[in-house]
Amino acid sequence: LVIGVPTEVKDNENRVALQPDGAAELVHHGHRVVVQAGAGAGSRFSDAEFVAAGAEVVDGADAVFAAADLIVKVKEPVPAEYHRFREGQQLFTYLHAAADRSLTDFLLDKRIDSIAYETVQTPDGRLPLLTPMSEVAGRMAVQAAAHHLESPAGGSGVLLGGVPGTPAAKVTIIGGGVSGTEAAKIAVGMRAIVRVFDTNPSRLAYLSDVFEGRLDLVTPNRTRLAQYVAESDVLIGAVLVPGAKAPKLVSREMIAAMRPGSVAVDIAIDQGGCFETSRPTTHANPTYVEEGVVHYCVANIPGAVARTSTLALTSATLPHLVTVAAHGVRGAAKTSPVLAKGLTTLGGQLVSAPVAAAHGLPL
Ligand code: NAD
Repeated sequence: LVIGVPTEVKDNENRVALQPDGAAELVHHGHRVVVQAGAGAGSRFSDAEFVAAGAEVVDGADAVFAAADLIVKVKEPVPAEYHRFREGQQLFTYLHAAADRSLTDFLLDKRIDSIAYETVQTPDGRLPLLTPMSEVAGRMAVQAAAHHLESPAGGSGVLLGGVPGTPAAKVTIIGGGVSGTEAAKIAVGMRAIVRVFDTNPSRLAYLSDVFEGRLDLVTPNRTRLAQYVAESDVLIGAVLVPGAKAPKLVSREMIAAMRPGSVAVDIAIDQGGCFETSRPTTHANPTYVEEGVVHYCVANIPGAVARTSTLALTSATLPHLVTVAAHGVRGAAKTSPVLAKGLTTLGGQLVSAPVAAAHGLPL
């Protein structure tokens, strides 16, 4: 198979869908890998590294799309890319097609065989190609909060861990799933006082075991939440209700009760955010102040650490990409129940029930 890796075109998207190690792996399995010149630059992988791995580096996206049977990307195709696809080409990428009717129509009209990273799912319900980005976002959330707490950044001037003789900062994390757990690890590591709210008792039990008592674990109710938020230096929103908009758990009033210059990081902003005062921001302008509290609500947090995010994403995707390359999208979905969950379109047919439901289209 010929596998094509174009440069990502979305604003500030510095990740790349394959790293040189991955190219070497695919070449080892007998495939041709065609990479657009400069595709790895945003993640600090040079063309020379791809060539050394056995890939062919070509100029321009058109040459990649013309050569490839299977296109591997990070983000969904945007309209400016649609014309590059050949009828019947295969695609493996984040798609989020339920949120994008024109993309869905394009995949059907061009009879693209597509698997979406975000819906690839293991039998126990995990989303292995989404998890690495939540891990990055969780860890970054605390790093960003620590920075924005600093006085020159407009924060309250509190050091997360304090020093002996001073109180450490209090960090409240709402949602103890993948990103909340990673946020807790970094906050504990920086010696903050960390509390985690989660509605799922078995998740709290798990965190209790793993953190050996270093976390204050709380079942949420509005009174407790209001108390904890009011005394927090850092508030992190990390909830997810699968398939739904994030619930607005923290009211404007609760935010207003925090000390001025405290920091609120809403990781769940990509699902609408879980604080009443949240609105999406970008890495170019990541924060704003509302009710005296610094809000960091970047919708693509992993983009700030593109190299780590590329390494994390491609480590997760590569084993699946090897399967897709070996069998094609159609064959891979038959071979692997995990990949079958990600199958979105096949030969002009919609095969994803949630995407069909979102657009009122037949399966
Ligand atoms: P997850 O499913 O692993 O964890 C979510 C947790 O929230 C679960 O443990 C669940 O029990 C808990 N929860 C649900 N409702 C709750 C409530 N009312 N109160 C308290 N806890 C509740 O999800 P995740 O992978 O950690 O993702 C969290 C959010 O972060 C998602 O919206 C995801 O899309 C988003 N995300 C954002 C970025 C970004 O760049 N901003 C990056 C990655 C992920």
